[in-house]
Amino acid sequence: MKIYKFGGASINSVDRIKNTGNIIQQGNKDKLLVVISAMGKTTNALEKIAENYFAGKKEEAIELFAQIKESHLNTLKYLTVTEWQNAETQLKELFTEIEWLLHEKPVRNFDYYYDQIVCCGELFSTSIIAHYLTEQKVKVKWLDARDIIRTDDNFRDAAVDWDFSGKQMEEKVAPLFKDYDVIITQGFIGSTDENESVTLGREGSDYTAAIFANLMNGESVTIWKDVDAVMSADPKKYPDASIINALSFTEVIEMAYYGAQVIHPKTIKPLQNKNISLFVKSFLDPSLQGTVISKEINKNLPPIIVNKQKQVIIQFKTKDFSFMEDRPIHQLHELFKEVKVKPNLSQNTAISLLCCFDDHAEKIDLLAGKASELFDVTVEKDLTLLTVRHYNQETLNKLSQNKTVVLEQKTTETAQMVVR
Ligand code: ASP
Ligand code: MG
Repeated sequence: MKIYKFGGASINSVDRIKNTGNIIQQGNKDKLLVVISAMGKTTNALEKIAENYFAGKKEEAIELFAQIKESHLNTLKYLTVTEWQNAETQLKELFTEIEWLLHEKPVRNFDYYYDQIVCCGELFSTSIIAHYLTEQKVKVKWLDARDIIRTDDNFRDAAVDWDFSGKQMEEKVAPLFKDYDVIITQGFIGSTDENESVTLGREGSDYTAAIFANLMNGESVTIWKDVDAVMSADPKKYPDASIINALSFTEVIEMAYYGAQVIHPKTIKPLQNKNISLFVKSFLDPSLQGTVISKEINKNLPPIIVNKQKQVIIQFKTKDFSFMEDRPIHQLHELFKEVKVKPNLSQNTAISLLCCFDDHAEKIDLLAGKASELFDVTVEKDLTLLTVRHYNQETLNKLSQNKTVVLEQKTTETAQMVVR
């Protein structure tokens, strides 16, 4: 069995859904488990609904949901004839689940409602695509991932119960391949032992594909994207970016750690543990080679640039000029935990600690406020963190041209600069 994963961009129009359908049909020489995200920007729209609902703006939430219903029903109309009635029935049942909820008053916390609402984007998209493929005579089964992927109740960032989910796959998913060639399921979602829906964190569908691959011993995973392959840098920012045809698991973990948005960071480990190769391919031109990510080390990598904008540097200086030693460092790390921030880069001096963070304004203000009770705090915003794997001096010079380097750190393989 192979696993395919399609993201929102690959199904954001009728033509793209048809294209995705073609790719699935061509891949269907093997048994396929297909993990799909919500259509286009549906997840963002659902987030808005959750916010309105929780803020007590019920009418707005219902109105926004009506738009989502309409756009999905519209798409369905262009894709199905004989299957239309079945599909419409299933979609309407799924709509009703959410509508009931929207009519209730919120009594639990936001993250709970977020997950109950936001999870439906994937349910809608997969329902449409499964019915479309049925109409194309593919032996396809729609599977509710919430019946399979069991998690804890840490809403919006739920942790998977691997044992339980594995058993579900063995008992409920594997047997389906006797009667079906393709199983279509949702990325990003799961459920608790009380049948509450959860999500696995934004962009979590890649991770879902890896969970299925790991627990069902898949042959490989292919993530279909709107890029030709993994590139050495974002080509929109760096025109000399080049295609990388092969990467090791470890390299991708490093890249993700530094903020490269190739693949969801949690995706690699489950694949690496079972040595399952991951292909990144273009859904716009499947004939292109793409990138294979596997245990093989690629010794000929170009410098790989990861550009993270909206960074802040906070300097924490001891008030009494005492050294930045165990105690103050410990105090700061406790504070980071409390505020839920993690430095992307940090550097000690004798009496201060400099840390570079993503600029989540609220968290940063809170952190600076709290820290100023113990330290002298200065904050600089609007910075960029550049990380270069396999760097050479020429690349670093080019990147820092016309910029001021505020902080710099190098290991043998990785150079990082915060620039203004
Ligand atoms: N639809 C979800 C999101 O947009 C999950 C995903 O796309 O992977 O975050
Ligand atoms: Mg997506």
